[in-house]
Amino acid sequence: MRIAEKGIRVLPRDCCLVGGTLPTLRSGECLGEIDVTPNQMNYELSQKFYFEAAHTLHREIDAGSSRRVHGHTYHAQVFVRGSPDPITQMVVDLGLLRREIDRVRDLLDHRFLDDVPELGAATLEGLCAFIYHNLSRALPNISKVRVERPASGDCCDLDPVSRG
Ligand SMILES: [Zn+2]
Repeated sequence: MRIAEKGIRVLPRDCCLVGGTLPTLRSGECLGEIDVTPNQMNYELSQKFYFEAAHTLHREIDAGSSRRVHGHTYHAQVFVRGSPDPITQMVVDLGLLRREIDRVRDLLDHRFLDDVPELGAATLEGLCAFIYHNLSRALPNISKVRVERPASGDCCDLDPVSRG
């Protein structure tokens, strides 16, 4: 174990202290073989947003109602995974994440999705891919994009890491 910067005591997950306290160590000083610092830990941050939009959809099931122009309230969530920057102690500045999400949200909110360039079919899968591709340049460590329609119980997760 190591006493991290700023004196924060960090224990590995399977380490337990029974009725004892850690000795005081100077920054960077180690006890034993295990070296766990905040920078070596993996975190996942996320932000949620929603948008309301109209679309049509060509499909076999519910074909008639899907082909008519109709709308949904979509809820989305963008996940970013990684280790904190050693200087800022942040995986990602949440202000940057919010700014980029607001930019993408503006491309979708109160739009006719059939007319949104580069979206293609406005399925949940297509919306996940659209959000990911529009965010990945500024946020290269996106680990997941979720789009759901809570009113109907529909949910789609895009895991860009495992897409190969
Ligand atoms: Zn629909």
